[in-house]
Amino acid sequence: MSAHHHSFWNQPDMQRLLASLTTPCFVVSEDLLARNLAVLERVQTRTGADILLALKGFAMWSVFSLLKTVLKGTCASSPHEALLGREEFGGETHVFAAGYSRADMEAILPVADHVVFNSFAQYRTFGPLIRERNKIAGCAIQCGIRINPEHSEGTVPMYDPCSPGSRLGVRLPAFEREARAGGLEGISGLHFHTLCEQDAAALDRTLAAVENKFGPWLAQMKWLNFGGGHHITRDDYDVDLLCRCIERAQKRYHVQVYLEPGEAVALNTGVLVSTVLDVCEADMPVAILDASAAAHMPDVLEMPYRPEVLGAGQPRAKAWTCRLAGKSCLAGDVIGEYSFDAPLQPGDRLVFLDMAHYSMVKTTTFNGLGLPSIARITRDKALVLQKTFSYQDFKGRLS
Ligand SMILES: *Cc1c(COP(=O)(O)O)cnc(C)c1O
Repeated sequence: MSAHHHSFWNQPDMQRLLASLTTPCFVVSEDLLARNLAVLERVQTRTGADILLALKGFAMWSVFSLLKTVLKGTCASSPHEALLGREEFGGETHVFAAGYSRADMEAILPVADHVVFNSFAQYRTFGPLIRERNKIAGCAIQCGIRINPEHSEGTVPMYDPCSPGSRLGVRLPAFEREARAGGLEGISGLHFHTLCEQDAAALDRTLAAVENKFGPWLAQMKWLNFGGGHHITRDDYDVDLLCRCIERAQKRYHVQVYLEPGEAVALNTGVLVSTVLDVCEADMPVAILDASAAAHMPDVLEMPYRPEVLGAGQPRAKAWTCRLAGKSCLAGDVIGEYSFDAPLQPGDRLVFLDMAHYSMVKTTTFNGLGLPSIARITRDKALVLQKTFSYQDFKGRLS
């Protein structure tokens, strides 16, 4: 697999920019985002599918002006994301949540174009409110139902909406019962989201399961939302097969197809820059960083996974091996084991790769640790420090 983003961050002028930062700091490159957008644009142009940004994965709104040159809008999983999508991105705002309260619905309706329900009961509760709003405010909010095709693609249960007991999506028996009782009245689309970091072959099989089970109702829908989890911008992703899946659904059912990737939009576009504070000796050398797995890269512990560090190798692949760990009090605040050409020293910079998605949307102020700043590198290679955080961001969320 090529590593264009390694060479991007390795360029001498990039290294100079990163060295000038106060750390910890997330840095996202608009050039690398544009590279992903070009792939997504090809899919839209070839197929006519509409691609939305899933804000859950990436919500750095200072780059939305770039993203919206290609993407058609956002998909939100909460009122706050929906508001952000409407305010800062525009285009279409689609919302799905596993459950809505009345207050959620009142916040969502002024900004939403599509509202997707996780059950027919929730649709029955809020459908009248939506119809009333469409009539009074002259808008055209469309309602959808999330379905669960009960087809797992072998992901870990934490990230598999089709795992046994999953609350996400209506399964076929309930769907059939409700549809027979007239429950689809006013529903204009179906939504499935079952993938996570997967290739088009997994979508192909999933779509077959969706067609098998829900095929009889697809032709009466205006749209079909394929959800997220498509790793479209990964170098070896089969974009052609994705397009054929979209074209198949369009041809058979005459539906508008939506995709709502989060990760694929921001994949390999950003880094987290941190500084070594100390190197102590445990069973092996441990470098203590000003970045924390627990507070700043929670997926490292949740997935869990070992992020790549620019210039570092697997343990013992290079001359000096150590553990990288955060400065919090959590014993398990450990990022992983890495090797370097030479021993790390206090003051050294470390660059964690692929940190744009599912990172800055998930940071916490655990331990009172400061949140990483947020910076971007513009198309003409200027570093813009978008945002720094302070004590007030910690105090403000408590009382
Ligand atoms: C998480 C999620 C997405 C985005 O998933 P990615 O893996 O980031 O592409 C899209 N739609 C729904 C409903 C989601 O829950």
